[in-house]
Amino acid sequence: MPPDLAHRSSFRLGAARARRVLHRWMLGPHMLAFLPAISLAGFWLGGEVLLLALALTIPLIYGLLLTGDSAAALGSARGGGDLVSMAMAQELAEHSFERARAAETHTACLLFEAEGLEAISRRMGEDVAETLRALFLHRLRETLRPEDSAMRIGDSRFMALIAPGLRLDLETLLALADRLQHALEEPATTDTGVHYLSVAVGLCGSSRLRKGAGGSDMLDCAQAALREAMDNAPSAIRPWSEGMRAERRARTALLSEVETALAKGQIQPWYQPQLCTSTGEISGVEALVRWLHPQHGIVPPARFLDALQESGRMEQLSDAVLHHSLTALRGWDQDGLRIPRVSINFSEVELRNPRLVDRLKWDLDRFGLPATRLGVEVLETVIAESSDGIIARNISALARIGCRIDLDDFGTGHASIGALRRVTVHRLKIDRSFVARIDRSEDQRRMLAAILGLADRLGLETVAEGVESSGEHALLAQLGCDHAQGFGIARPMPAPQLADWARAHAQRIAAAQRLGRSNG
Ligand code: C2E
Ligand code: CA
Ligand code: CA
Repeated sequence: MPPDLAHRSSFRLGAARARRVLHRWMLGPHMLAFLPAISLAGFWLGGEVLLLALALTIPLIYGLLLTGDSAAALGSARGGGDLVSMAMAQELAEHSFERARAAETHTACLLFEAEGLEAISRRMGEDVAETLRALFLHRLRETLRPEDSAMRIGDSRFMALIAPGLRLDLETLLALADRLQHALEEPATTDTGVHYLSVAVGLCGSSRLRKGAGGSDMLDCAQAALREAMDNAPSAIRPWSEGMRAERRARTALLSEVETALAKGQIQPWYQPQLCTSTGEISGVEALVRWLHPQHGIVPPARFLDALQESGRMEQLSDAVLHHSLTALRGWDQDGLRIPRVSINFSEVELRNPRLVDRLKWDLDRFGLPATRLGVEVLETVIAESSDGIIARNISALARIGCRIDLDDFGTGHASIGALRRVTVHRLKIDRSFVARIDRSEDQRRMLAAILGLADRLGLETVAEGVESSGEHALLAQLGCDHAQGFGIARPMPAPQLADWARAHAQRIAAAQRLGRSNG
């Protein structure tokens, strides 16, 4: 570590430690023994006035120190003052690692992710999030020993470095992680109410690292363990293991491979038809992205969307999907097919893009297609978490230019009725889990009927997804669901196959109509 950085960081840690020692000393039981002495000295030095002043200020000082969890006492930690850059975090981890190595002992790095803090910041504002960050840091420091250190290294991420010691085996570290997690997950009270946040923990002890590794490797490995914990479940704790190294390598390889695939045009949408339940005609198609992998064949989005998101390529993905979809739509029009609309899935990142509407308008103009031919699918979770601000403005602007807005996976995202009112939505896309087995389960049928009733009262159209059987399809029509989509109708397919399917489907409908007329 460069000498000035080492000096600055050890000074910073030293100051924080001194603050904590002072805090504990002031609040310790031994202070009670000094109180009569302080009062007597006050009376002796300044008479009643000083005694009165002491009587008034001591409880005040204590009040401030004891309300350690309150926003006022945490004022000093607010304003991002405790945020440490990643470069600094690496230097501190190196420093701790070197000290442990010199003393032939061990150290450890623990990382904590306050899950849901970002959503709180979006929903309730930065002030509330800042108060919670300060509170978390305070709790970490209170639970650690004075010789350990804790800092914030991101918007919702914290790091603890355990001072070098001999007994830092896996069992001890897991027990420590558990204790710290418990302390952090205590309900947190702010002016806006009580918050319950889960905390994921990733950790790495220096003894678990390969020979020749250093402090920044320890931090890297703790990061990988934290990612693993966050991918697993809320409140998970994961220690670094060698097995994660292979996974990390595979992940890095996937990231670069998927970026190349996108650039080479191997990532394209397939189309799944949606039918109107009363006429049986195609009411639209949904564009679902596929990776046409030269070796592995068709790769579904679940295997690569996260990688694209992680590498910040979602906008490029939606550009590709939009371009392919509009090309397909124009081609179907030229073939004389009636495909009224293509719907595209937009991720939260794209919906936050202030240029989204202009970009879509420009593309539609280029293809000579009106905005009414384009549908936008927005996940219910996205509007549940931010029904105001840029996302709502973008959705409303898309609706204003004529795009149809579908609320995807409806029933799983907990959007309030208020959120449904604030954000322009035309259609509820009922999640597959509410559609499966409706022809066989009375409970399931009742639930679906309730959702359809809600949509009706809100004046919204409905589309059921995941329709797998003709029994489900028939019952949906009977219950009044407007549109249906699912493997029972057709699987997603490339644009030319969809054209063939649409032609065959039009013939089936015409034949059914002829049959109906001759029977009637
Ligand atoms: P989603 O938007 O809910 O899409 C529906 C998924 O259900 C699709 O999976 C579709 O193939 C599948 N599906 C359709 N009918 C049935 C059925 O009857 N039974 C069953 N079991 N499944 C059915 P897919 O294509 O694997 O897409 C998965 C998710 O990936 C999509 O869920 C969507 O959230 C995301 N996705 C797909 N394409 C894009 C895209 O271009 N952009 C973004 N941001 N996300 C996309
Ligand atoms: Ca969708
Ligand atoms: Ca869906």
